[in-house]
Amino acid sequence: MNRPPIHIWSSTFGYNGFVIPGYGIVINKNEADNQALIDHETTHWNQYQRMGLLSFLGNYSRHAITKGYDANPMEIEARSNETPYCQENYTECIRTGQADTAHNPKFRKISPALLIAAVAIFLLMKSE
Ligand SMILES: [Zn+2]
Repeated sequence: MNRPPIHIWSSTFGYNGFVIPGYGIVINKNEADNQALIDHETTHWNQYQRMGLLSFLGNYSRHAITKGYDANPMEIEARSNETPYCQENYTECIRTGQADTAHNPKFRKISPALLIAAVAIFLLMKSE
């Protein structure tokens, strides 16, 4: 596995972690020692490296729109450590604490569109 830069943020918009292509993976400070979560996000980082930026964003968005989050094959690839039940019912497993990766009752209660907007603003501010 490729080792992406890991950034620990105190606020991650209700997510445990996510990938910012070209920047690294972002992990919530409460999960800084969570190797299962780092492995999950590293899988997404490797998808980005393998596909290139545009295909990564395009494929991820297409799957997210047509299949939703839990059935997104790019998410399922990142859940290889989870039980078969949690691979298919990931949101519920994260919220209830059944998942290996993380336990977060507020998981994904902020819409992905808002997250993407926040990350875009962050990258614009960083580039100035
Ligand atoms: Zn994921």
